[in-house]
Amino acid sequence: MTKKEFKAESKRLLDMMINSIYSNREIFLRELISNASDAIDKIYYKALTDESLTFAQDSYYIKIVPNKDDRTLTIIDTGIGMTKEELENNLGTIAKSGSLAFKKENEVKDGYDIIGQFGVGFYAAFMVADVVTVTTKALGSNEAYKWQSSGADGYTIEPCEKDAVGTEITLKLKENTEDDNYDEYVEQHRLQSIIKKYSDFIRYPIKMETTES
Ligand code: ADP
Ligand code: MG
Repeated sequence: MTKKEFKAESKRLLDMMINSIYSNREIFLRELISNASDAIDKIYYKALTDESLTFAQDSYYIKIVPNKDDRTLTIIDTGIGMTKEELENNLGTIAKSGSLAFKKENEVKDGYDIIGQFGVGFYAAFMVADVVTVTTKALGSNEAYKWQSSGADGYTIEPCEKDAVGTEITLKLKENTEDDNYDEYVEQHRLQSIIKKYSDFIRYPIKMETTES
């Protein structure tokens, strides 16, 4: 008897992810912040073993930028970034975790900080956004790339300009409907309370930059 592998229909899987896995929409921010923290942890890890790298705690942070005029929310990190190949593998494959792979490759001991493992958290962004844009530059690379997707219809990757190593994720919030309002995700106080609720344990600073006066 031959054993066959299960196949997965990625569009449906993504639909299911977005519509039924999470009971609470606001956790998208927890997922994106945990990815940002993991990305910084990876630089920290590399610095432990690579003498040419130093880890100056002050240079590493996560920044949240709500923009009410554009109805966008941007999450910026100074983490390890992604190469074109990593973008393809990690954001183009549902349930593929670059962080789990990193832990294995680097023999990171259990209980250490890197949170990611299931490879699905990122897609929670589509609960609140109809377009997600990721610009990223990997540590040690001169090239930057832009990944963009509006969900189940796939994604594009193209070269772009980005000076600093790290990742920037911009969510274009969904249009409000009679039943659903997404404007809360550009409200500073609302964001602060979500961050406090789910991301209090993150060990890198989470800054907020507002366009409000
Ligand atoms: P998980 O965090 O469980 O691995 P996610 O779906 O949240 O799964 O993310 C998938 C993968 O995409 C991560 O494992 C990581 O390799 C990559 N990734 C996501 N966000 C970032 C980021 N801000 N910086 C660098 N890599 C990222
Ligand atoms: Mg994650």
